[in-house]
Amino acid sequence: MVKRSEPLRGSINKRDAWVWRGNESGMFSTASCRTWMSMGRIQTSSKSISWLKWVPPNVLCFIWKLDLGRIPVARNLIVRGVQDIPISCSLCAREPEDIDHLFIRCPTAEEIWRRVSWWANINLYQAKSVGDLMLIQQNNRLTKMQLKSTTLIIYTTIWLLWKNRNSWIFEKRRFSVINMLEKIKTQAFVWVKNRGAKVIVDWEKWSSCPLNAITSL
Ligand SMILES: [Zn+2]
Repeated sequence: MVKRSEPLRGSINKRDAWVWRGNESGMFSTASCRTWMSMGRIQTSSKSISWLKWVPPNVLCFIWKLDLGRIPVARNLIVRGVQDIPISCSLCAREPEDIDHLFIRCPTAEEIWRRVSWWANINLYQAKSVGDLMLIQQNNRLTKMQLKSTTLIIYTTIWLLWKNRNSWIFEKRRFSVINMLEKIKTQAFVWVKNRGAKVIVDWEKWSSCPLNAITSL
């Protein structure tokens, strides 16, 4: 996908560069990434990432990297050779900060998933790993629109758990569980309202019954 180009033979001033091979221009874009993946040229661990257009591209790319296990949680940074950082979770200090701890097992994450599950009336809090959450794509008991709505809610929750972690590490500010839940509801609503094509979503219905709140035009 991305490779280090061959240095020009005989030149001592030319430097290596990273080149995106997903399109002819060599410039990375989410669309070219999506096309590349649909061609089966990127293997993800679960092969279940949904490139839902309701979700902004930067968030989708974060989810993709998360699925590949390549986001900068403490354990990954230390494996890459970053030194002098604590490995323990900055939010709870109970376990090393790896992906499944931060997004699943951390008490903050557990409580958020429990409350999101109550709100959306779908069981997301028994997932044992991020990979389990991604398997929602294979849930054939949901309608197509309910599946998209659930994916939106999962991706939004993951994104805001990450933002909450960064806010605590870099600004020493963290959000309450109630505040987080409101942010998840609002952020997901704003995304689908602004980015959803040919859909109708009503805030009152979204607040109380999100999986049935989005309808096609
Ligand atoms: Zn924790």
